[in-house]
Amino acid sequence: EAKESGRNCFKFYAQEMGRRIEQYVEMENALRVALEQQQFEVYYQPKVNLCSGRFSGVEALVRWNHPQNGMVQPGSFISLAEKTGLIGPIGEWVLHTACVQARQWHDMGFDEMTVAVNLSAIQFDQQDVAALVTRILAETGLAPRHLELELTESMLMGDSDSMLAALKDIKAIGVTLTLDDFGTGYSSLAYLKRFPIDVIKIDRSFVRSITTDPNDASLTRTIVLMAKSLKMKTVAEGVETQGQLGFLNAIKCDDVQGFYFSKPVPAAALTEMLRHQQNRPVLPRGAEP
Ligand code: C2E
Ligand code: MG
Ligand code: MG
Ligand code: MG
Repeated sequence: EAKESGRNCFKFYAQEMGRRIEQYVEMENALRVALEQQQFEVYYQPKVNLCSGRFSGVEALVRWNHPQNGMVQPGSFISLAEKTGLIGPIGEWVLHTACVQARQWHDMGFDEMTVAVNLSAIQFDQQDVAALVTRILAETGLAPRHLELELTESMLMGDSDSMLAALKDIKAIGVTLTLDDFGTGYSSLAYLKRFPIDVIKIDRSFVRSITTDPNDASLTRTIVLMAKSLKMKTVAEGVETQGQLGFLNAIKCDDVQGFYFSKPVPAAALTEMLRHQQNRPVLPRGAEP
């Protein structure tokens, strides 16, 4: 009896495993097809500088325009792309596309726009990222100071000697390095000392509750103060309300990004927003919002 049910259990387990492997292989193939058929798209979310009240740059965020499933968010495919190594070619495509787009905005007269591109640890294992960045900047004619690369704290852990070397090479090009999702990883102050980081991006999980949770408010204030004393800039992500904006303005965070201003949008929609703010800043300059 017990043996029998054990066997059934195993049979069920094997079937389940088989189904999962099948799904994985299917998804992997779908990602390859997506690359070949250019089903990926880059969306852009603006950042607003609290000093000028104007858009200072954008973050490039990849989307997968799947022929059957519609627009797929990166949360559902980036980790698979990392496991299969496809993040290499996908990341390269995003970087190239974002640099071409930033160059176009410059040509239209929006000449201070920066573009921030997310990098994955796997890209550093696969290739010489500094060489890749150098080549793409040359191909697109974008000035290095207009490109920003976003890293996460976990990337600075592992084999950090080779990461340090790679980041120094990237810094030497003149590109800005940003530590994304700050506060969610180990947030070791040693990273900030060891790695050539220019910008700290405060994670959405702090920003969400800065107006309701005094601990998050004081942590955020402390991160901004610490960054200033280290001569780093700060960006707050996930800003959704006027209250959050007011707090971030009061503590002199440099830039803000979030749905309060705009969701990530296709390039054409962002161009419209840039045109619209030419005559009218997004926020009144220096005024308390
Ligand atoms: P991230 O780099 O931290 O990007 C910010 C995410 O927060 C984006 O999600 C954005 O849509 C979302 N967000 C921005 N403002 C708000 C807000 O006010 N409220 C809320 N609730 N969310 C907001 P998205 O586009 O789904 O991207 C998720 C993550 O996927 C990114 O987090 C990044 O880690 C990764 N990712 C996106 N594009 C790429 C890429 O090209 N390469 C790599 N390696 N990773 C990428
Ligand atoms: Mg990011
Ligand atoms: Mg982030
Ligand atoms: Mg995030």
